[in-house]
Amino acid sequence: MGPTFAEINHANLIHNVNLIRKINPKLKIMAIVKANAYGHGDVEISHTLNNNNIDYFGVAFPEEGIKLRDAGITTPILVLGAQLSEYFKEHLQYNLDITLADPYQIPLLKNLCRKLNKKANVHIKIDTGMNCFGFSYKNFLDYADKIFDEQYFNIVGIYSHFSSADEDDLSFTMLQLKRFQKIQYLIKKKFPEIIFHFANSAAVMQIPQSHFDMVRPGIMLYGNPPGPDFKLSWNLKEVMRFISKISLIREIDKGESASYNRKYTANSNMKAALIAAGYADGYNRYLSNRGEVLIQGERYKVIGNVCMDRFLVDIKNNPDIKIGDEVVLHGRQLNEHIKIAEVARRIGTIPYDITCQVSKRVQRVHLY
Ligand SMILES: *Cc1c(COP(=O)(O)O)cnc(C)c1O
Repeated sequence: MGPTFAEINHANLIHNVNLIRKINPKLKIMAIVKANAYGHGDVEISHTLNNNNIDYFGVAFPEEGIKLRDAGITTPILVLGAQLSEYFKEHLQYNLDITLADPYQIPLLKNLCRKLNKKANVHIKIDTGMNCFGFSYKNFLDYADKIFDEQYFNIVGIYSHFSSADEDDLSFTMLQLKRFQKIQYLIKKKFPEIIFHFANSAAVMQIPQSHFDMVRPGIMLYGNPPGPDFKLSWNLKEVMRFISKISLIREIDKGESASYNRKYTANSNMKAALIAAGYADGYNRYLSNRGEVLIQGERYKVIGNVCMDRFLVDIKNNPDIKIGDEVVLHGRQLNEHIKIAEVARRIGTIPYDITCQVSKRVQRVHLY
């Protein structure tokens, strides 16, 4: 194993799921595990959730669902998003639920089902204001009978997606909710068994009226708020710690510059630690001269540009810091904690981006 790894804490994952369960034990949970479970390792995360009776999995692309099926996951899996219809065949073959995302897909899916003599498990996506995909809330009811009458379609769910549920101003979110509630009310009367779902993590945490029959948490499962400034009232626990090691201690003389393009100059004789991770591992290059890391439970600043495979930190001439010491890039170490949300805020992005960036080169070490 290399010096840099991502530690994945499954007890924290279970803790976070159990917080959602507490809302209402009858509320179904679709765990969103797209993008390698936001960088945490989709197969391992899904097995743990499966052992904790998760109701559904959500992925972004059929190949992500196929990977889970190949790993022995038999729980229902919904492929979110607007897929090219040429992939519907794989959905059917691997028993992945299909998102019906546009009227043009109706005859294509129907013809494929007829040809393969297979019934498709379908979730209908309603566009309530994202304007990316889905049947418009304005005219969905014109299509509803046609879809519901289709003998090759088993309509499992109807869902929508929030654009701005993580913001302080929830007026647009409430408008989206109202548009969906109208459809939900009319369809539920006729088809009470259909699963209505809408809430992402932000809505799980702050909009109880949006929970319906099932919620679709992603980011909160991994212990993170949806935005760096989201007021987190839930006691979520971060699942990932990102860890590396000190590979060298260097002395840099006053007036010397460090790393590519000389973006840092020592203003006194100093000691710097060379860290064995870089932007190719997912330590973002925007953290150059800006990031902080933990060594022996204390914060130290990144100096100079982050390289592909390494970067330097100012160790403030601390004589106790040694080659081989553990360096926490994000996560807790002793009494100090660099939160993923903090790293995101520092570089103007969102927590999702930070864990998704932890690259393939970085081994995931799963703690159960
Ligand atoms: C990614 C995704 C989610 C999860 O969103 P979080 O903000 O991570 O909770 C839910 N629903 C859909 C349709 C998604 O694409």
